[in-house]
Amino acid sequence: MSQPSPVVAAQERRLVVAVIDAADDGERRVALIPDAVAPLNAAQMQVLVEAGAGAGAWYSDDDYERAGAVIVSSEEIDRRADIVVTVGTLSPARISRLHPGQAVIGMLQPLTSPDVAERFAAGGITSISLDGLPRTVSRAQAMDALTSQANVAGYKAALVAADTFGRFFPLLITAAGTAKPASVLVLGAGVAGLQAMGTARRLGAVVTGYDVRPETQTEIRSVGARNLELESVTSASGEGGYARVLTETEQAAQQQELNRHVPRFDVVITTAQVPGRQPPLLVTAEAVKQMRPGSVVIDMAASALGGNVEGSVADQTLVTDNGVTLIGAGNLPSQVPTAASAAFSHNVSALLRHLVRDGALNIDMTDEIQAGVVITHGGHIVHRAVNELIHHSPTPGGNT
Ligand code: NAD
Repeated sequence: MSQPSPVVAAQERRLVVAVIDAADDGERRVALIPDAVAPLNAAQMQVLVEAGAGAGAWYSDDDYERAGAVIVSSEEIDRRADIVVTVGTLSPARISRLHPGQAVIGMLQPLTSPDVAERFAAGGITSISLDGLPRTVSRAQAMDALTSQANVAGYKAALVAADTFGRFFPLLITAAGTAKPASVLVLGAGVAGLQAMGTARRLGAVVTGYDVRPETQTEIRSVGARNLELESVTSASGEGGYARVLTETEQAAQQQELNRHVPRFDVVITTAQVPGRQPPLLVTAEAVKQMRPGSVVIDMAASALGGNVEGSVADQTLVTDNGVTLIGAGNLPSQVPTAASAAFSHNVSALLRHLVRDGALNIDMTDEIQAGVVITHGGHIVHRAVNELIHHSPTPGGNT
């Protein structure tokens, strides 16, 4: 009788990472692209890919197979995967098909959907959410999917604005006349805002940026935009590089000042967020009413919680009575699926290399990266903030 070859035996010890097809909810991104397969194979991981998983981002099953992955059915993933990787979160039906001991990596949003965390815990699934990554830890930068996807979203927001606007973005002098450049205001100069400014600038618009964190002024200038300075709020830096919540008085004064500035612009793109809070209202209905017909407003903060623009609705484009197109941005990264998937795949691969030791998932809640991203393990919610949200009480021995 022949003995199994050492190569086969070594492959059998590999951790099985499975990429699922997230297309059910219109998502076009895929969590790992073919280029990620060989490095993961080299790091003792076998990669399974659900048939058609990369199609929305223009990666074929053949591309994955050539790269060393194995194309399988969704049922085979449920049976064989040690770690399921996905872009967004999983539906309750999909979670119920997983088995105790399996792990899931994605942008699971446990702080906005804590019920998902409870389902993972009840099913004995280890859930790992990239949106909990501590962003100020420099060794975690390669895993920072919030940044990589915000960057894609900011780029796409500028393109959507240019596409919707009825005039040119650049100054054009032609025999048929002179077109003056579009004036663009971007509110919020974080990752998405700075990319929106840079992209609108590269398209030739005259761009102005604004943020409540004074340290952004240099960054705004570095992407070729002007600074809008408001007298009402001069500094509202909070913890970890984020803004703090404004007081009611500050917010009212900020809105009043912005009411005067907003109508001067052809295009306004809003990106302002405060972690874990309702997005601040920056552009009032009064300001929108004063804008010129043909103006465009894109609210990147539009969500079920509200947005930066009064009257915006996530995933909807509305035209106001005075002819302003008001776009509640939905899933913008999914609209640039190939670039967004490549960046996300880079983030997931870096996280996998951090978590996998000697062919096994090595959960260690004393590691500050893991304390941020590991939500459930061993049948419990182990993430402090998620636990507090659900039980209104601290986790014994939990982190973050
Ligand atoms: P975000 O999406 O939470 O917010 C977007 C922007 O909105 C922020 O710049 C914030 O200051 C601004 N904002 C909030 N309230 C506002 C208001 N009332 N008016 C105007 N602007 C308002 O932020 P983000 O883009 O995820 O990140 C913000 C910052 O975090 C980055 O610019 C950076 O400094 C830091 N960061 C650091 C790292 C790192 O160190 N590796 C990684 C990512 C982000």
